[in-house]
Amino acid sequence: MVATLFIIIISILVIEFGFDRFLSVINIKHSQKQLPEVLSGIYDKDKYARQQDYFTTNARFGMLNGTFSFVLVLIMYSFGGFGWLDRMVQPWTDNSILQSLYFFGILFIINDIISIPFDWYHTFVIEEKFEFNKVTPVLFFTDRLKSWGLGIIIGGGILSLIMWLYSLTPTYFWLLAFGATTTFSLIMSMFYSELIVPLFNKQTPLPEGELRNAIEKFASGVDFKLKNIFVIDGSKRSTKANAYFSGLGPKKRIVLYDTLMEQMTTEEIVAVLAHEIGHYKHKHVLKNYVFSLPFSLLLFYLLGWMLNSDVLAQVLGGEKAVFHLNAIAFFTLYTPISTLLDLSGNILSRKHEYQADAFAKKYGYGTQLVSGLKKLSAKSLSNLMPHPLYVFFNYSHPTLYQRITKIL
Ligand SMILES: [Zn+2]
Repeated sequence: MVATLFIIIISILVIEFGFDRFLSVINIKHSQKQLPEVLSGIYDKDKYARQQDYFTTNARFGMLNGTFSFVLVLIMYSFGGFGWLDRMVQPWTDNSILQSLYFFGILFIINDIISIPFDWYHTFVIEEKFEFNKVTPVLFFTDRLKSWGLGIIIGGGILSLIMWLYSLTPTYFWLLAFGATTTFSLIMSMFYSELIVPLFNKQTPLPEGELRNAIEKFASGVDFKLKNIFVIDGSKRSTKANAYFSGLGPKKRIVLYDTLMEQMTTEEIVAVLAHEIGHYKHKHVLKNYVFSLPFSLLLFYLLGWMLNSDVLAQVLGGEKAVFHLNAIAFFTLYTPISTLLDLSGNILSRKHEYQADAFAKKYGYGTQLVSGLKKLSAKSLSNLMPHPLYVFFNYSHPTLYQRITKIL
């Protein structure tokens, strides 16, 4: 039984890695294809060569990074690394929740330390070379320390709660854990902008001026309050631009990057804003949240079912069922399901993007949105020709080509 499960787990890891690699390779090949007419004016010849260079550099780097993690996980499974770590933390305390926290904490920190050289290279070599990077070495490490702090407080807190619920009642664990995590994620999505974002960025209300007047005119016409629109100092880390809608109920807000405001005309910014207001009008944040609920219930049901299996712990080199070993084995076995869930989440998200685009178009901002999107793609050296299968699995947004042809 242990041997069979071991083979199943390794097969899942290998198939997932192989499929991912297959998608990356066909995506790189496809990116070199001739651009369709509608996308031809976005890059000039030199800039397009630069985009191709940037894309393949990133794709190769991503594959190297992925291979490294894959080999590491294989080694951990093959040599009983997880079981070894479990035996190491056991004598530290009799409290099983604390044992699991030590176990996950050590894995988290080792994993993060290993990823530092990769992130460093990506930020200070690749992004630097293509003139996107604004991160300083000091900011690089302070960001990391803050993430560690958040990981310890939020991750450790929610993990402790889940483990405590399991120790309370294994039978109803799945229902209680579902209730606790859905409440927590609801609170997080409401207060994310006020509690988490300020740790990393400054958000300010729209400054007075021509842009604010234009936005005010549009926003009041569609009944969206101006006080919910903020500018964020994205330029602190990168020259790339973005805008997003977040929050629920009274905590909703639209956030525009300062870099977006530098790169676009007033009309284009209003068009992007119209798209974001479209997300709000269609209640996309709420719909995403509701969409995720049955899947999270399924996850906890299956997790609760597998947490007391000694066999699962033994596959990882342990002796008998413990929360942390069983949870790791469970999440690997769960990979095929989570891949399908990610896929359906992306399909839903792409549908929402089309709806938000249609909203902007309805208010007469179609052409400005198209020119704004083209500018965003050009500035961030986006790949204009991703492979359709790669898009199907990995893209949360439709491609630029799909969006333009739908809007115009
Ligand atoms: Zn959108």
